[in-house]
Amino acid sequence: MAKTEPGAPDLAHSYAVRLMQHLVVPTFVIDPKRRVVIWNRACERLTGVAASEVIGTTRHWQAFYEKKRHCLADLVALDMPEQLPELYSEYAARGNNGLGFSAENWCVMPKLGNQLYLAIDAGPIHDEDGRLIAVVETLRDLTDQKRAEMALKELATKDGLTGLSNRRAFDQMLLEEWSRAQRTQQPLSLLFADVDHFKLFNDHHGHQNGDECLRAVAAVVRSHASRPLDLASRYGGEEFALILPETDRTGACGIAEAIRSAVMELRIAHGADGAGAHVTLSVGVASHGPGEFDFGPDRLLGLADQALYAAKRLGRNRVICADRMLAEFARLDRGGPEVPALATRRLGS
Ligand code: GH3
Ligand code: MG
Ligand code: MG
Repeated sequence: MAKTEPGAPDLAHSYAVRLMQHLVVPTFVIDPKRRVVIWNRACERLTGVAASEVIGTTRHWQAFYEKKRHCLADLVALDMPEQLPELYSEYAARGNNGLGFSAENWCVMPKLGNQLYLAIDAGPIHDEDGRLIAVVETLRDLTDQKRAEMALKELATKDGLTGLSNRRAFDQMLLEEWSRAQRTQQPLSLLFADVDHFKLFNDHHGHQNGDECLRAVAAVVRSHASRPLDLASRYGGEEFALILPETDRTGACGIAEAIRSAVMELRIAHGADGAGAHVTLSVGVASHGPGEFDFGPDRLLGLADQALYAAKRLGRNRVICADRMLAEFARLDRGGPEVPALATRRLGS
């Protein structure tokens, strides 16, 4: 058997450390007490933090975050997969078979001053007796890919003219919110808002001014979708739809009225023959309360659409709530012979 040369283990150790230092993959290693033992050059370049600032400390988190929290390597060392969901947007725990965790996250990167989207892998290293001796964390900068993915998503879900959600996003969100409302037995409301005499506006003021007008109305609609779950969308042309989860009839009618009057307050000149002096909006409102979810979301759509249609028929620049609509028509019915039949403009088309 070959005799080990004196000093050979030291050589092997420094060789290994050197390999690690120059590895092109940003990597750091912590010991079982979660102190940094290796912080390689690529990691220094990625984070802007020098090895000398972190080696021997447990302050590796400072390279990535502003507030103290665990890094992925810490979760592996502490065997805490249960913290993955609250700390990372994407994650996978590869079981307790010694393979560690993977995760992705936006990191603040305080030293760099710009956020990075990092893909992170952290794996434990054990000795022959199965004792943890280190955790290795490797990092990949996926910021460019993530931004491209977000831009694509934006294109697929946003309306180009107004920046509101598009029809596709609306359809999907309505289905999701319908299911959620059914599950939680919370009310759900839907508003359809349509610019009055917009064809005349275009004819009178030109298409470009028409676009400007749509942007201004969209901004009003957006400003009234103020809670995180509210969704303001451009349903098509000069028509906007607002999904209001956990909002009952009274709340939804209040918001509809606020939108209608805010558009009037914009005082966008109209003045075409047959239209008023300023741009106005008609709004149809439909709501479902707990116990009214036996139908599909199409029913809510149909009711909001009918209410909008009624608002147009009754003279425009008004809010009509679906359940008050029939009463309004009944009142008109008593008042004269010319009562328009209710119809849906959209369903089935
Ligand atoms: P009502 O009061 O009954 O709603 O009448 P209206 O003229 O608003 O409705 P109509 O459906 O007859 O016309 C809608 C117009 O909206 C016609 C179309 O040219 C215009 N429009 C649709 N999308 C855009 C757009 O992106 N930009 C501009 N400038 N006009 C648009
Ligand atoms: Mg219109
Ligand atoms: Mg319309």
